[in-house]
Amino acid sequence: MQGEMEDKCGIVGIHAKDSSKDVAPLVYYCLYALQHRGQESAGIASFNQEKGFKHYYGMGLITSVFSDEEIKNLEGNMAIGHVRYSTTGQSKVENSQPFVIDFGDSFIAMAHNGDIVNSDELKKELMDEGFYFRSDSDSEVICYMLKKEHYDNKKNVLEAIEAVCKKLVGSYALTILIDGELYGVRDPMGIKPLAVAKRQDKFILASETVAFDVINAEFVRDIMPGEVVHFKNDEINSHMLESAGKCKLSHCMFEYVYFARPDSTIDGINVYKTRMNIGAQLHKLYPIDADVVIPVPDSSIPAAIGYSRASGIPYGEGLIKNRYVGRTFIMPTQEERELAVRLKLNPIKDAIKGKKIILIDDSIVRGTTSKQLLDLVKEAEPAEIHFLVGCPPVISPCYYGVAMATKKELIAANYNTEEIREQLGIDSLGYITIPALVEAIGMPEEKLCLGCINEDYPTEIPEGLEAETYYKP
Ligand code: AMP
Repeated sequence: MQGEMEDKCGIVGIHAKDSSKDVAPLVYYCLYALQHRGQESAGIASFNQEKGFKHYYGMGLITSVFSDEEIKNLEGNMAIGHVRYSTTGQSKVENSQPFVIDFGDSFIAMAHNGDIVNSDELKKELMDEGFYFRSDSDSEVICYMLKKEHYDNKKNVLEAIEAVCKKLVGSYALTILIDGELYGVRDPMGIKPLAVAKRQDKFILASETVAFDVINAEFVRDIMPGEVVHFKNDEINSHMLESAGKCKLSHCMFEYVYFARPDSTIDGINVYKTRMNIGAQLHKLYPIDADVVIPVPDSSIPAAIGYSRASGIPYGEGLIKNRYVGRTFIMPTQEERELAVRLKLNPIKDAIKGKKIILIDDSIVRGTTSKQLLDLVKEAEPAEIHFLVGCPPVISPCYYGVAMATKKELIAANYNTEEIREQLGIDSLGYITIPALVEAIGMPEEKLCLGCINEDYPTEIPEGLEAETYYKP
C-alpha cells in the first residue's frame, strides 16, 4: 500500500507500581504467547525514572531476538513490546517496533497494531513541516504527530493523544511510553483488540488474553473502543476520545476466524467457541454424508470438532503438521515452495485412503495454499473430498492491518465457487455464509468489520490505496 506497511501485530505494555521492579521479563513472556500475531521482528522498550530508557529489537522470532542478557539489560518498571507480522517486501529492521523517538532529555516509544489508511497524507503534512522519517511505518507517523502535539504544541499527553486520534483514519491499538508513563489506546471502531489485566502491583495491556494467562495475570476488561487508559499508582485511569461512541463499531471478524489464538477471549467472545460454532454452522449449511471430518491443522481443529459433533461423523486427523517449520525462510523457486508445503504438512495415508472425507480449513485467501494442500490429500487417494471453509469468500482486500492480498490475487474476487471447486479438482466446496458466520461469532453484524467479505468498509478508503499480501512460505 503506497509504501506503507500493514501491521497485524501483537502488542504488550506493563506498568509496575514498585519502581524497583523490572517488567521486561514479563513483557517477553507475553510476546512469546502472542508470537502467532507476528514472526518477522520483535522488540521491547523499557523505562524507569532512575535508569532511564532502554530499547532492544531485532528480526525473527522472540526467542532468537532476545537472550537472557538483553532482557536483563531492559531495566524498568514500565515496558512495552511488539511482535511484527510479515508482509511481502517489507522485511527490514527499520520497520521493527516499538518505534522510538529519543530526543535527549525525553523520548516516546510506541507499539502499534493496525493500519492508518490516511498515513500518506499525514506523513506528507509532517514532512512539509520538516519531520524526517526513517521507516515506512505508520507508527512512526503517529509517534511524530504525538511529539508535535505534546512537546512542540505543549498539550498535555491526553490532549495530545486526542488531537492525534482526531486525525487518524484506520485501525490502531497502541501501547505508548511517554513522559515516563504507560498509556494504552484503542481506536473508536474497536477494529483491533486490546485488553487489560492485573498481576499483584502490575497492570498489563495486551492484544490477546492468552498473554495474561501465561504470566498468571487476572483479566480485568477489554479496553473500550475509543478509550485511552494510563496507569498511575494503583489505578486504571480512563479517558474516552471525543469520537468514542460516535462511530460504527467494527471488530475484525478475521481475529475470530483465523488470526487470534483459540484460547483467547476478545471483546467477551471466546475464539475457540466461535470456531466450534463455525463448524456447527458449516454442518447446517452443508450436511454431507462422509466417513470422517478432517481439519487443516492447527487453526481449523475447533471447526472440524464442531462439524463432527453436530453431524455425528467421526473427527479424525488426516494431516500432520511439522511444528518446527518456521515462517521466515525464503524459497525462491516453485520447486522449493512445493517442498516447503510438504515439509509443513503430510497426509496420513491410512486415515484418508478410500474414505469420503470432509476437509475443513479456516479460509481461502489467494487459493494457493488450498491447491497445494488438496494435491497432497489427493495423493492419499480418498474416495471423495468435500472442502468446507470457515470464512466466507474473501472478495476484497483488508486495509486495516490484515495483509491478505490485492484484489487481483484474491481467488474469490475473480472466480465463483463452482469455478474454484473445479480448479481445486474436488467433489464439493462450501464456504460459510456471512449470516452463519455472524451467528457463530455471536455478535450483532453492525458491530463487526466485514470489509473483506462484503466490501463494506467502516472508513473511507483513499483512492489508489493498495493492499498488501501476507508472506507465507
Ligand atoms: P491462501 O489461500 O494461499 O492465501 O492461504 C490461505 C491460508 O493461509 C488460510 O487457510 C490461513 O491458514 C492462512 N491465512 C489466511 N489469511 C492469512 C493472513 N492474512 N496472514 C497469514 N496467513 C493467512
